Amino acid sequence: MPTTTATTAAATTNYAALADAVLAGTPVTTDDALAVLRSGDDALLDVVQAAGRLRRAHFGNTVKVNYLVNLKSGLCPEDCGYCSQRLGSTADILTYSWLKPDEALAQAGAGLRGGASRVCLVSSGRGPSDRDIDRVSGMVGALKDKYPDVEVCACLGLLKDGQAERLREAGVDAYNHNINTAASHHDAIVTSHTYDDRVDTVTKAKGAGLSPCSGLIAGLGESDEQLVEALFALRDLESDSIPVNFLMPFDGTPMQGTHELSPARCVRILAMARFVCPEKEIRIAGGREMHLKSLQGLALHVANSIFLGDYLTSEGQDAQADIDLIADNGFVILGAQDGPESGSACAGGSVTADPVIRRRGAGTTAPANA
Ligand code: SF4
Repeated sequence: MPTTTATTAAATTNYAALADAVLAGTPVTTDDALAVLRSGDDALLDVVQAAGRLRRAHFGNTVKVNYLVNLKSGLCPEDCGYCSQRLGSTADILTYSWLKPDEALAQAGAGLRGGASRVCLVSSGRGPSDRDIDRVSGMVGALKDKYPDVEVCACLGLLKDGQAERLREAGVDAYNHNINTAASHHDAIVTSHTYDDRVDTVTKAKGAGLSPCSGLIAGLGESDEQLVEALFALRDLESDSIPVNFLMPFDGTPMQGTHELSPARCVRILAMARFVCPEKEIRIAGGREMHLKSLQGLALHVANSIFLGDYLTSEGQDAQADIDLIADNGFVILGAQDGPESGSACAGGSVTADPVIRRRGAGTTAPANA
């Protein structure tokens, strides 16, 4: 049984017993989740070991690899404070309108050849028009014709009635729309849409038979309680996959200069997510290199999914470093157990203190990082 309350958590929690209880079918309480989040550095390995048992119980030694294709970058009319593509952002990112279908197919193919099994087709903006749904449906059809085993996740913003069903009919497998933060913190980071708008889109996607993918961004000024609130909301939403982003504070956005996270804190956030949603895909998403730094490998013992290569508007570490990260920590890529060789001499990528603006892949003539 869970063994603690939050007030005494750091000193007294038996994380192994907590994992035993979860494995026996007892969900954690909010106090348990807070205890994991507030555990001290001296308990970090105990927390990872316990959360790692949950990870292995549900995902074994596999890591799911996802690949982002930014179909339309920047110039968004929404005002999400963390986003380099937001209204008024002066971040020096790539901006472009919809990729041509051939270009989208080429970018997705690069990720798949690099080891990804899921391609995430993303566009900036409040939400898709019906013409946009047609456009993406055509891309998905071409992608599935060429790569029949690929999983496709669409991330196109707020959905209107009927659009999720059309995406499902086109062959889309999953739909991503992050709640991003707790309901109680949402309005502090965005005013142009509501938390309920976001929940409504996740619900629409799920109702249409798309696998719901919804996660959060840590480091937005939220409290521990609000991080826990967000995870319990995702549990209630039955999100199948939960991207955990760590804020990348782009210059030219309201969050510029915000640095609230340490590597160990990021691992604890991932472990808390694993305890709350033990059987769900926990994906280390944006900010992995910047915030986890040398603890990326440790984090893989808790999370079971990453993005390969670059993010929407920033560069990740070298794709080969991602592949090495998986192999070096004793994991295998889901769906490619006999896939790419690992252990190259790649020296890893740019682990830096600021986002590196993406200048390669989608929307450029430079080769993709895959
Ligand atoms: S998160 Fe999406 S909706 Fe919000 S500003 Fe960025 S691109 Fe626009």
